[in-house]
Amino acid sequence: NLGKSGLRVSQFGLGTWVTFGSQLSDDVAEDILTTAYQNGINLFETSEVYGSGKAEATLGRILKKKDWRRSSYIVCSKIYLGGRAETEKGLSRKHVIEGVRASLERLQLDYLDIVFANKPDVYTPMEEIVRAFTHLINTDKCFYWGTSRWSSMEIMEAYSVARQFNLIPPICEQAEYHFFQREQAELHLPDLFTRIGLGTMTWSPLACGFITGKYEETIPPNSRAALKGYGWLKEKIQSEDGKKKQAKLKELQSIADKLECTLAQLALAWCLKNESVNCVLLGASSVEQLIENIQSLQIVPKITLTIMNEIDKILGNRPTLSRYASKSESLQKT
Ligand code: NDP
Repeated sequence: NLGKSGLRVSQFGLGTWVTFGSQLSDDVAEDILTTAYQNGINLFETSEVYGSGKAEATLGRILKKKDWRRSSYIVCSKIYLGGRAETEKGLSRKHVIEGVRASLERLQLDYLDIVFANKPDVYTPMEEIVRAFTHLINTDKCFYWGTSRWSSMEIMEAYSVARQFNLIPPICEQAEYHFFQREQAELHLPDLFTRIGLGTMTWSPLACGFITGKYEETIPPNSRAALKGYGWLKEKIQSEDGKKKQAKLKELQSIADKLECTLAQLALAWCLKNESVNCVLLGASSVEQLIENIQSLQIVPKITLTIMNEIDKILGNRPTLSRYASKSESLQKT
């Protein structure tokens, strides 16, 4: 289930960032979506901003062509950046409602299952945000709403506002989670599940493909880091910090070898091992990648406590409350 909601989500969801409507032809996107659905993935994730709406349009065209029962899968989209005008951004009631109307049109759907607020919006009062998402649910434009990249404090504020005014609180937060980004999904979101039943969906489990080992020697020409507009990823990979992480990946590869799986499969199985994570959003630029990634499910039982400890030792970044406390103390001092 997604948090304490009744929504039954598959352990993996399929994302469309970079790929649908941009990097991939419609035919390849269709093969990927079909492979996902046929292998039990029931959640597809997109955003109004991906490919300036082209990701939603492509997903919509494929879903229409496939004619699968609408009740058998979940479609999620995210709202925050719909266009250049001031009124087409953020989480004002105007943009949330207009943004979802436009998403539904591109997707050729009557409703979304979950609409996410893609980022917090400090310029819109929380009560207006919660009222806008509640309105979407009450008018059948979606069934649930969630947050993405929000802090615990912002989520708690949304929850309190919802409870105070008898509105609907978010059911889930979307957070980045992989070997090198752990704090939110391991420390803060489990706490929010206990307190308010919030679910956790995670993204970029392979750090945009970095955690596959394929960037060890060079930037492969067909990879995300070689795409136009993704120079930031290339720079990140080739930076000093990137090189340090590369060395850790080499050590992690030996654990993958021991478990007879690929590094990507080890990384994905490790994400699934976190019991607070309800759904890991995958990205894939080919059917082969998707199949390799789905097969990581078979590696999960092999990740014993000993293996977890070995991974932690290599990474050296296990989040703890004391580590977090000292970090916030030093932030307060600066
Ligand atoms: P990943 O970190 O898993 O990166 C996916 C990319 O890595 C693929 O497109 C492919 O790129 C490469 N890759 C995947 N599997 C393999 C493999 N087995 N071998 C080699 N390369 C591989 O996930 P994403 O960054 O794509 O994020 C997943 C989804 O999460 C997104 O589609 C989106 O829906 C969501 N998301 C949400 C965000 C938010 O703000 N809430 C932010 C970012 C993502 P290539 O082959 O081109 O190198």
